[in-house]
Amino acid sequence: MGIRDIEKMEKMGNFEIMERIAGHEQVLICNRPEVGLRAIISIHDTTFGPALGGTRMQMYNSFDEALDDSLKLSRGMTYKCIGADVDFGGGKGVIIGNPKTDRKPELFRAYGQMVDSLHKRFYTGTDMGTEIRDFTHAFKETRQIAGKPPEFHGGGDSSEPTALGVIYGIEAANKELYGTRDIASRTYAVQGLGKVGFKVAEHLLARGAKIFAADINRDSVKAIADRADALDGEVEFVPLEDIYTVDADVFVPCAIGGVINDETLKDFRMQAIVGSANNVLASDPHGEMVHERGILYAPDYIVNSGGLIQVADELYGANPDRVMAKTRSIGHSLERIFDISKEKNIGTFRAADEMCEQKLELRRKMDSMFSAGGRPKWDFDN
Ligand code: NAD
Repeated sequence: MGIRDIEKMEKMGNFEIMERIAGHEQVLICNRPEVGLRAIISIHDTTFGPALGGTRMQMYNSFDEALDDSLKLSRGMTYKCIGADVDFGGGKGVIIGNPKTDRKPELFRAYGQMVDSLHKRFYTGTDMGTEIRDFTHAFKETRQIAGKPPEFHGGGDSSEPTALGVIYGIEAANKELYGTRDIASRTYAVQGLGKVGFKVAEHLLARGAKIFAADINRDSVKAIADRADALDGEVEFVPLEDIYTVDADVFVPCAIGGVINDETLKDFRMQAIVGSANNVLASDPHGEMVHERGILYAPDYIVNSGGLIQVADELYGANPDRVMAKTRSIGHSLERIFDISKEKNIGTFRAADEMCEQKLELRRKMDSMFSAGGRPKWDFDN
């Protein structure tokens, strides 16, 4: 926040915003009417390294709503970065605007200047409502852009590592439930055959598993049927609403959030939930419900962190082999989370948060031991 903003708030006698941003390191607000940029960047925590998080563009109803979104999402990124074991902290940008009509080059150039003003404390890229070509404009103003296409020395499409992370997650869940990582001996209900879900389905079929699949897009359904023929695999298509009640072992949500809710849990019989979709649980109580019913839930932000691993890796100079090796560690993190959940008899979603909080606390203690020398300087050559 700029000093003038604070003085204005003091005059207003209103410290409500200061209370809301408590717990975050920094919030930057920008209003550039000449290019139509109204944006907020929230940096939650940089203990592990500079903040990393996408920038979304959305028509928020109010400044408060946009601020709350950026605060919540940047906090989530701290956990996600710790869970993925990348040396970055949590941050998020939000641009208040209509993604269909307001995505202008000059707006993104101005956004690039805003990002640059943070002097390598924040790295960003696409999220809901923004595309990589928007960030090619921002890239003219700042090097603090991640998730770039290969022609900009970036890692490109992140759905492959994300899909692989889901496969490692399924292996970890199978080991926990059935004592073996073997994929072929189980059945899977894949919801969503988009960039990630299609690749997950392909991996499962290639490894000899039977899958049930549902997607609102008929072309995707046709494409996976063709792939199944080519791989000599077995896929059974089900109506959208039936994907929750099929007689499969593992539910693999790769479409939308909130799919584990009161309604879908009614006749849910599958033993595990492992997928790429964000915010799979409609709420924390649904995470408790799942735990009480003995359904093994692999926390979404751990399972789907393959894409984040690739984006973070790019800032050290993109290296696909390193990304694949690191993505493998998603399975190990899940095994640790399943252990914490059993030891403490808490839901896996809570166990994941606890694991990240413990790592954060330990790192803070380590840093304080060496604080005389100051924190290491972050620098990337891209
Ligand atoms: P996508 O848009 O390419 O694919 C989503 C697919 O789900 C589409 O084929 C769509 O038709 C289908 N779909 C939508 N609603 C559906 C419904 N009700 N029932 C069945 N199918 C439905 O998206 P994606 O990149 O594959 O991402 C999938 C999920 O994983 C999203 O929740 C995304 O946020 C999350 N995720 C993706 C990445 C990544 O690297 N792409 C990384 C982390 C998390």
